[in-house]
Parts: sequence; structure tokens; C-alpha cells
Amino acid sequence: MICLGIEGTAHSIGIGIIDDQQGTCTIRSNLIKIYRPEKGGIHPREAANHHALHLADILKASLQQAKVRSSEIDLIAFSRGPGLGPCLRTAATAARALSLSLEKPLIGVNHCVAHLEIGRGTIPECTDPVLLYTSGANTQVIAFAEGRYRVFGETLDIGIGNCLDKFGRSQDMEFPCGPKIEQLARQGTQYFDLPYSIKGMDVAFSGLLTAAEHYARQKRRIEDICYSIQETAFAALTEVTERAMAHTEKHEVLLGGGVASNARLQGMVETMATERGARFFVPAKNLCVDNGAMIAWLGVLMHKSGVRMSIKESIIDQRFRTDMVEVTWRD
Ligand code: AMP
Ligand code: MG
Repeated sequence: MICLGIEGTAHSIGIGIIDDQQGTCTIRSNLIKIYRPEKGGIHPREAANHHALHLADILKASLQQAKVRSSEIDLIAFSRGPGLGPCLRTAATAARALSLSLEKPLIGVNHCVAHLEIGRGTIPECTDPVLLYTSGANTQVIAFAEGRYRVFGETLDIGIGNCLDKFGRSQDMEFPCGPKIEQLARQGTQYFDLPYSIKGMDVAFSGLLTAAEHYARQKRRIEDICYSIQETAFAALTEVTERAMAHTEKHEVLLGGGVASNARLQGMVETMATERGARFFVPAKNLCVDNGAMIAWLGVLMHKSGVRMSIKESIIDQRFRTDMVEVTWRD
């Protein structure tokens, strides 16, 4: 079965084509175009305009790269949410148009669940992980329990990626700022105290951001501030992930989201996993960020398990929660 997936929840528009052969996920193409605001954060309508502008070209290029004719596509998937309304609507409209014109079924999927399933789909040894999903807008610890993907911990304010981007922007770094912060942090030698906020199983980053900006105004070494941000925020994330693993008695941990490509975060989580005798997995970088292939793959899993969706039912949901999805494709 060949599925084309459209991702457009926030800053990226992505189209991926995957081939499912008896449960094996083969990625034929996975193209992404990122909206980079000239100044400030993401403006939802401008991001949506960006996606609309580039959709047709990405679609064409993705089909070409996959060496797939549009008539060979069996299923169209798109991300129904969570995300920014105008962006979601743009991707959903394209998906509906494709579904109608190609006369192929349409399926809307949950973006966060897709991050987890692409890890399971592309890493055969990864079967039942606790996912630490760290992206721009989202930060969640997710695991399968009693028929659903449950959120065991999450941010109470901003996503970790958003925290890094906001700090970076205040220091005139280019979006996305995570990679630059990672690079600077490697040269950090001194740790500055920052708020380490864990409430129950949840984390919070706005206090840390305010304090980091305060150090920057005091003209402390930027390398040391970046180092301190990473050490503090990533330790908090590792701690709640470990607690979720202990609680659920799972022996695998998976990373997902754009921040998952950070070597320090990977190192901390891997050390924690090793100390627990658990296994650590991180998907390929282009599968960690928001991408169409993960949407396509979840579409396949849902479709094969019998889920069907009419155009009418394919409404977007900006606040589509991970645990709202009935997981019909797992025992
Ligand atoms: P996503 O929303 O999942 O596409 O991820 C985008 C986020 O990942 C942005 O906030 C980036 O700053 C962040 N990011 C990307 N690469 C890195 C990195 N190497 N270290 C930390 N954050 C990163
Ligand atoms: Mg994401």
C-alpha cells in the first residue's frame, strides 16, 4: 500500500510517500519546507500562506523522488492536529482535494502519535517505547497504556524548542535557534543556577527562560548560559521520562521532535536508559522533525486497522490531544 502524507501543523510543510509491504515501512520520499519568519515568532496566517505557496511544488517533487505516479497512491493522510489553525486548514484542504481528485480514501491523524509510530515503524527493535517528544510547540512524555497513547508528563507552559528559540531570538540568533544553542553550549564551562521546574510529572520552562535572559542582560558568557539552559532543561526532561518508564514498567525509550537531534539531550536520556537496563532509540533526523512520512505511516496503520474517515469527518482540531485517539492498530 502506498500512502502520501501531508504534514502542516506549524512551521513546516512536508509531504512524504511511504510504501507499506506487509507491515514494513519503506520511505520513498520525505520532503520538507520550513517557514522562517524574518522577525519574531511564527505568525500562523503567514506560515499557512507559506505552506499554500509551496505545497504544489513539494507534492510534485515528492512524487518524482518516490518514482510514484499519482494514480499509484492508495491512501491520503494528513495531520488533523494539534497545531495552528490556518496551517492545519491549508494541509487538510490539500489532502481533501487530492483524495477527491484521485478518488482515494482520506485519513486525518494525530501529529503527536505519528511521532511515536514512525519510531516504531522504522526501528524494528523499538516496539513499546516511552516517547520523549520534544519539539517547538510540544513537549510530552507519551506511552501506550490500556488501549491509548497516554500523556504521562508534559510542559505546563511552553515547549522546550520554543524556549530555546525564544532565548535565541532574544540574542539575535536565527530561527531555529536550537542547533546554535547546542553549538555554543559545547564551549560552556560554568553552570549558572536556573529554575528546575518539575511539578508532579510535568515540566515548565518559562521561569528558566526569564532567568536565562536575565543572565544575558548581565553580559554573562553566552556559551555558559546556553550550557546552563541545556543542562537544566534536559535534566528535567530526562527525570520525568525516567519516572514514566518506572511507572509504566517499560524498557525502551524513544526520542522524537526537532530537539531530539540535540546530542546532549540524546546523551542524557541514553545514560538514564543504560542505567535502568533499558534500550534507547532515536529515529533518523528527518523523521524526528515534523515530516510527511510519519503522517503517511500512521495513516497506513489506522487504515489497515479499519479506520475510515469521510470528508465531512476530516475536520481539523487545533487541540487534538494524544489520548483522544483510540489506538485500533495495537493489541
Ligand atoms: P519541530 O517543531 O519538531 O519541527 O522541531 C523544531 C524545534 O527543534 C525548534 O524549536 C528548534 O530550535 C529545535 N531544534 C532543532 N535542532 C535542535 C538541536 N540540535 N538542539 C536543540 N533544539 C533543536
Ligand atoms: Mg512535531
